[in-house]
Amino acid sequence: MFADACPAGGGAEPTPAELRDLQARADALAQDVAAMRARLTGQSELPRGVRNALAASVEDALALAAQRIGTAAEKLARVRAAQWSGACTAWWGVCPHCGPTLMAEDGRSWCRQCGTAWNYDRSQGPCGEPGAYLAMDALGGTVLVCAAHGRYMQERLEGGLLLAIPTS
Ligand SMILES: [Zn+2]
Ligand SMILES: [Zn+2]
Repeated sequence: MFADACPAGGGAEPTPAELRDLQARADALAQDVAAMRARLTGQSELPRGVRNALAASVEDALALAAQRIGTAAEKLARVRAAQWSGACTAWWGVCPHCGPTLMAEDGRSWCRQCGTAWNYDRSQGPCGEPGAYLAMDALGGTVLVCAAHGRYMQERLEGGLLLAIPTS
């Protein structure tokens, strides 16, 4: 029974700052490798096989790794930013104007109805729009949802109830 064994690092959720720090280290390593490659290739008395031992693809791979880590930091920060107190708690995105009309591709998203576009995939993760309704489901549970999610749920909730909350 090792199913809940912690991975290295304790298993706690990383912070965007930790990921940014890791990205900086990967960037620095990529630059160090580039400098080392330049020194190595400049040694004319060394056999060609040794001078070319560090291919440019090595630093390219490190630069790509740094970029990926940066993207992860950005995604994590966006999820955390969307979870402010008073925000819609739905875990899928909508167009704040039109509802479930989002299209997503290559880390970008847009509304196929009104054309509003976002430079990230808004269809995944917490909604984050200001909460406008308490949606009550058939089991009596309530969740805070935004106006667009509220409209969507009102059309589909069977036996559910939508309560407008006063806006301050
Ligand atoms: Zn729209
Ligand atoms: Zn919402």
